[in-house]
Amino acid sequence: MPRLQEKPLLGKIFILGKIKCETGLHIGGSKEKMDIGGIDAPVMRDPLTREPYIPGSSLKGKLRSLFERMENKQFNRSGGGDVWRHECTDSQCYVCRLFGSTGSNADENLPSRLSVRDCLLEEESREKLKKIDTGLQYTEWKFENSLDRVTAAANPRQLERIPAGAKFEFEIVYNVEASNGEAKKDLSNLLELISLLQDDYLGGHGSRGYGKVGFTIDKFMARKLEFYRATSEEDKKSNSSILENKTIDECKQNVDEILSMFDIL
Ligand SMILES: [Zn+2]
Repeated sequence: MPRLQEKPLLGKIFILGKIKCETGLHIGGSKEKMDIGGIDAPVMRDPLTREPYIPGSSLKGKLRSLFERMENKQFNRSGGGDVWRHECTDSQCYVCRLFGSTGSNADENLPSRLSVRDCLLEEESREKLKKIDTGLQYTEWKFENSLDRVTAAANPRQLERIPAGAKFEFEIVYNVEASNGEAKKDLSNLLELISLLQDDYLGGHGSRGYGKVGFTIDKFMARKLEFYRATSEEDKKSNSSILENKTIDECKQNVDEILSMFDIL
């Protein structure tokens, strides 16, 4: 018997654009793999190119945690250490149906409708960052003094960060499933979360002002399954729709238009 939550796929919605670091960004990499001496907290880097990037999982995790707080969800699952998160098997839970959850058995799993790709440096930023001379590749470092809450001893640390002004390309993909009006609500929620994130922070040390980011949306587009079956440009065109260079608010206003081709509203 098929699993309950598996619904036919109708197509995909894409939100593509740029994330600009308005302040220094620190998304921590693993210190074990570090090859630069002296930095206590290095940033995440692509192992092949050594360029810093924003892991899709970090962006997705941040959007999810904002959503959990927005919806006032109970943090019922341990994510390791002090981190707690919300996960449930209610197919009407906005958070879990968009971001997925694992149940106690496979029948209860809600597969995530969202995929968030790793965000790589955009070309212009890459060229600019190549030229800065900080002793680190593409990044800068900053001393941060933190106080040990128990002993009150100062604990100066060197944090590596991606400089303000750097831009990354992002790509968020949403699966449109045959399931009445959920897509409209899901996409509206997603766009709201992107807006909210701009007034929150990405990565670590947000309370020190790190991680303020701005989003620009280059493309908001839809592709029906027929798009992928099409063999001519004409057929592809008639099975897709695209809005370009819209603000987040304009995208919110046009969710109906983007979804209209799916006949599910
Ligand atoms: Zn839930």
